[in-house]
Amino acid sequence: MVLYIHIPFCKKKCLYCDFLSFQPENYEEAYFDSLIKEIKEFTSTENINSVFFGGGTPTLPNEKYIYNILSTIYKKYKLSSECEITIESNPGTLTFEKLKTYRSIGINRLSIGLQSSNEKHLKTLGRIHSLKDFETNFEYARQAGFDNINTDIMFSLPHQSFEDFSEDIEYICNIDPEHISAYSLIVEEGTPFYDMPLDLPDEDTDRKMYSYCIDFLQEKGYHQYEISNFSKDNKECYHNKAYWKRENYKGFGLGAASLLEHKRLKNTENIKDYISGKYVKETQNLSKEEEMSEFMFLGLRMTRGINIMEFKNIFSVDIKDVFGLAIEKHVKCGLLKQEGNNIFLTRRGMDISNTVFVDMI
Ligand code: SF4
Repeated sequence: MVLYIHIPFCKKKCLYCDFLSFQPENYEEAYFDSLIKEIKEFTSTENINSVFFGGGTPTLPNEKYIYNILSTIYKKYKLSSECEITIESNPGTLTFEKLKTYRSIGINRLSIGLQSSNEKHLKTLGRIHSLKDFETNFEYARQAGFDNINTDIMFSLPHQSFEDFSEDIEYICNIDPEHISAYSLIVEEGTPFYDMPLDLPDEDTDRKMYSYCIDFLQEKGYHQYEISNFSKDNKECYHNKAYWKRENYKGFGLGAASLLEHKRLKNTENIKDYISGKYVKETQNLSKEEEMSEFMFLGLRMTRGINIMEFKNIFSVDIKDVFGLAIEKHVKCGLLKQEGNNIFLTRRGMDISNTVFVDMI
């Protein structure tokens, strides 16, 4: 089982962001009290293989809050000896002292949202930091002992040329993190970007950037293990893989989601309700059909794909009897490939994965 802790606070909202995050205002103390209460109320005897602090910006509040949460988790649950403990961060919110505290309380993986190495693009995105902030924070993280760092990068940004992006990706490789997540910008409804006239790269340029990213990173020793995720040897993110493999996960905090056996749960997104202890807002019992679909479209995100025997063991039915036609169609079109008992997306399939996923629902 893995645990997710949502910290919904950010210094300022980025212009493209549709995550559940806002400025802390007067909620901080009460939020963390309620979060700890929620963690104490949940019981599980399963081994915990990963804890992930996500947001928002979990590194924005004082580190004492993270310390208190982790202390509660250590007392309450059984963590495996290799447990991956990640904290997401944004440049400009990290100090050397903070990073040393994180390391000393057991956090062994740091994720830094850089998004772009180009100052002009950072401004366009409404990010709070400069490239210099990132460089200083990355250096502090190494000095504090972090040897497992992810860096997030985005492409297809307004006014971004292919050359701009190739400079970004080259820059990141020179910084040498252990893991890179690379996502294409999606302009979501309800964000300031949605109502702005944006000069975005066309679809061909977007795909050219993605393709270049895969090849360049591979050349630099990062293997692609999921549509948007790349890592050095033995540095794949356990937490992410747990989602795609449909391991049990429990999310704590505002808006957090959980998958517990055959149920999906969703916490309230209303901060006042959350603080008053009304945590879970929705519970959905998953049917066998829904679970089979999830197994397919989540599993196929990974480059290793899905395993036919695993499907049979879990669902007691032959994969061909459920998804046979869809698999055959996409193998014929060159979007899926079968090797032994594994079925996975081809390079072209990765490019237009939604075309495949839609047939698995
Ligand atoms: S830092 Fe991340 S979570 Fe916060 S506003 Fe920006 S994109 Fe959203």
